[in-house]
Amino acid sequence: MRFLPVFLDLQTGPVLLVGAGDLARAKLRLLAAAGARVRWYATDGNHDVSGLDAADTARIELATADPLAADLSGVIAILCAGAGDIGTAMSARAKAVGLPVNVMDDLAHSTFIFPAIVDRGDVVVAVGTGGASPVVARRVRERIEAALPARIGDLATFIGRWRKTIHGRIPEFPLRRRFWERVVDGPIGALVLAGRGDEAEAALKDVPDPTAFAGASASGQAEGKVTLVGAGPGDPDLLTIKALRALQDADIIFYDELVSSEILDRARRDASRVPVGRRVGKPGIGQDAINKLLIEAAKSGQRAVRLKGGDPFVFGRGGEEVEALREAGVAYSVVPGITAGLGAAAQFEVPLTFRHEALRITFLTAHKARDAESVDWSVLTDEKMTVVVYMGMTAAPSVRAGLLAAGRSPQTPVGVFARVTRPDAQAVVGTLDELPALIQEIDGGPAILIIGDVVAHSAPWRHQNLNHVISELLEAAE
Ligand code: SAH
Repeated sequence: MRFLPVFLDLQTGPVLLVGAGDLARAKLRLLAAAGARVRWYATDGNHDVSGLDAADTARIELATADPLAADLSGVIAILCAGAGDIGTAMSARAKAVGLPVNVMDDLAHSTFIFPAIVDRGDVVVAVGTGGASPVVARRVRERIEAALPARIGDLATFIGRWRKTIHGRIPEFPLRRRFWERVVDGPIGALVLAGRGDEAEAALKDVPDPTAFAGASASGQAEGKVTLVGAGPGDPDLLTIKALRALQDADIIFYDELVSSEILDRARRDASRVPVGRRVGKPGIGQDAINKLLIEAAKSGQRAVRLKGGDPFVFGRGGEEVEALREAGVAYSVVPGITAGLGAAAQFEVPLTFRHEALRITFLTAHKARDAESVDWSVLTDEKMTVVVYMGMTAAPSVRAGLLAAGRSPQTPVGVFARVTRPDAQAVVGTLDELPALIQEIDGGPAILIIGDVVAHSAPWRHQNLNHVISELLEAAE
């Protein structure tokens, strides 16, 4: 992010517009609509303001002097549109005195740029692409336009009118925030969005005890809780809508080392973030300490999210955390996530079950060779069973040895899938016999193994075969 979106108060001084023609007039319309006072230097001498209504025109001062010699005191920003070389020179002047300046379609001479705008009264959404692509910005704007309720601006205005009153009645900030969330998400908000503002007004007036309405406990404090959230295997677009909502509502987030920064970026900006996972070379803080942190956060009235890679209940120790929370009498809920095995299957087209070929799936962990040795491999020899192995990179030779000794065919197709659903995802396929060599080709974890005939349907397997056929054809042609 090179450009920080901010909202400029146009009541505090005039904006200088330098330029001519339709480009300048388009900016004039934008500024007028936003209620700006504009001092316009028309570089071609044509101050035609037709098309603007009288109220807007009254706020436009038509300047005839040389803009390069203009007095800049009190000016809040400078815009150049269709101004040619004068725009460039104006930019140098503005930069010299530290005034924000935009030269249309000229990033090098601009210190601020215009976003695509969604304008719903008090609700304004600005979409920027750092100047890279206005077309992309417009497409994003269209999606936001479509997603926002038409009267969302009315809702903001409604709340704005009541803010002071409620502030007086609920001084505690977290509780006040929850009060407004309940208004926005509940029947009162729905009334405003339905255009029934009077009824909403009456309903808000009728709330007998705002603190209780906000869900305060008997002690008058905000109620805390813990949400265990599955973050999926890496791609932030694989978060569920519930997961996203929990991240947006969180006061504090305890996250694992497997959770990508792209996913944390989707959380509420002012939520505290606490890493609690194992780091490379460091042991991490331990499960008991994590349980304690979760309980303390909830008991202090915070909405805590425990964010885990994949799914919380698949080799994620979610079960232990839920037990600890239950014992401590803390409210909790669990939001499932896409587990790594399913992420790998979808990305690389491994149908985990397949008509008559694969009728069963086993999810297995083989953290260390020692763990792998304790697995009863004899129950995994069914040819119609797909075996998905978590944490199986280092134990891969033991996985291979165990399965072969139990009688599974050395020709069984195997896939090693690393960093699935991330931009640098990697797949290597081969046979069970070759497994340790396949692992050597992986450029870093986390990685998951899928073992079973269905791997032969996967995209990397098909490509490998195609490459094989092509090289045979090329050899034959030589
Ligand atoms: N709860 C997680 C699993 C945690 S155990 C889930 O449901 O996915 C950690 C193991 O998960 C890793 O050793 C690896 O085998 C697997 N894993 C997690 N994320 C992965 C990813 N993006 N690509 C491949 N494997 C992954």
